[in-house]
Amino acid sequence: MPHRTRLDAGIVIAYQRGSHTVLTGGVVVLEDDRIVHVGREADGPVDETLDLRDRLLTPGFINTHTHLAGSPLDKSLVEDVGKRQFQYSALPDMLPARAAANDRQMMEACVDYSLVELLRTGTTTVMEIGSIGDYMADAAERTGLRAYVADSYRSGRWFSDDGRSVKYEWDEAQGLRDFERALALVERLRGRAEGRVQGFLSPAQVDTCTEELLRASKQAADELQVPLALHASQSVFEFDEMMRRHALTPLEWLEGIGFLGEWTILGHALMTAGHSWVQFSGDDLSLLAESGTAVAHCPWVFARRGVMMESFADYVARGVTMTLGTDTSTQSMIEALRWAAVLGKLSKRQTDVSTARDVFDAATTGGARLLHRPDLGRIANGCKADLLAWDLGSLFMVPLRDPIRNLVYSAQAEDLLDVMVDGRWLMRDRVVLSADERAVAARLQREGERMWPQMHVGDWAGRSVDEMSPLTYPAFDTSLA
Ligand SMILES: [Zn+2]
Repeated sequence: MPHRTRLDAGIVIAYQRGSHTVLTGGVVVLEDDRIVHVGREADGPVDETLDLRDRLLTPGFINTHTHLAGSPLDKSLVEDVGKRQFQYSALPDMLPARAAANDRQMMEACVDYSLVELLRTGTTTVMEIGSIGDYMADAAERTGLRAYVADSYRSGRWFSDDGRSVKYEWDEAQGLRDFERALALVERLRGRAEGRVQGFLSPAQVDTCTEELLRASKQAADELQVPLALHASQSVFEFDEMMRRHALTPLEWLEGIGFLGEWTILGHALMTAGHSWVQFSGDDLSLLAESGTAVAHCPWVFARRGVMMESFADYVARGVTMTLGTDTSTQSMIEALRWAAVLGKLSKRQTDVSTARDVFDAATTGGARLLHRPDLGRIANGCKADLLAWDLGSLFMVPLRDPIRNLVYSAQAEDLLDVMVDGRWLMRDRVVLSADERAVAARLQREGERMWPQMHVGDWAGRSVDEMSPLTYPAFDTSLA
């Protein structure tokens, strides 16, 4: 017999006739991992009733682009610094030094920290593009999060040896071997944790993968029916490189080799034809919309470097499948929603676009569409019980007339009280049940302190961490005290 649980909530964001709706004084009935009833009353006897009448119940967020096994170590490091000749991208200048300094122990500490950070900030489904997929899958299984996991692969890498230009170094055979390893991970994860943990494919970047590798990846993703994630149109130097190689925008080239499609998700598709930083004619947004290709929009990580999409509102208006991700740090979907909404308005100089509805849809039903999972991202009969319960009476959530606007524009992480995935509570009253939050934080601090002194090793100029990323203020001079 299934276990039936009744949730009495102050407000439920329930899904009805193709849209989220607001149900005041709502009742949600669960049978094990599924929602079986949404309304004002229960549909029959239950085994258990939970009183959430002081809480707002929403679907969990689908975070479609992360690099959990390293991103937390970007914090306190990559902000406020960037080279203008790389149009403020950290990819060729800062991140190689960080990646080279990361060892296995640091990466594992990052994953364990990340899962707690994700739960505290609303992610119930995460797509992880990384390199320690088996560890990530085990950690997700242990924590209870819903996870799609990929080990990334590529035919080459970019680097700079002078701090001025980006160069490429190729090893196509290695790329094909790593592709085989990535396929094996997808196979290994099949059926893991009752399907809660699954694999997908992620050739790394449009400018570091050969056409052969991308075509093989697309064919495999179609056969396996798994998502296919690629970084594309993420920086000006990448756009210029693809233009130099093919006289096409990155997206035109991908469309030409048959890479776009309904399983394809591009991070971050910012530098599209028409963006003011590339000043190029063309209609990349149509290529995305007509092929059903999704975009993993990660506004915060770019915004903190002075880079933004132009414009989220245009992508939405053109019918592109928009989803939200956190990419690096912070890994808060609350921040992703807020920055997507605000930057969408700023880039259009317009208030009534890039609305709370647009970004909330992207974080829920948008991600579900890409995953081909109509049972995720919504509270409706038959859907998975992946739920968030928010404090309706907190300092930040009142006055409350429109719950979604308050979530997008005012909510803080502390307003998120409970998280359920697959019918299991993973967080109650802000406490993540599977991990010791202070312990994972202390461990990440120790790993940061171990990494910072090693960063000169992988830097093109051998700079120390303080030369690469000077501290905000100098140390207090005790000799002057
Ligand atoms: Zn990424």
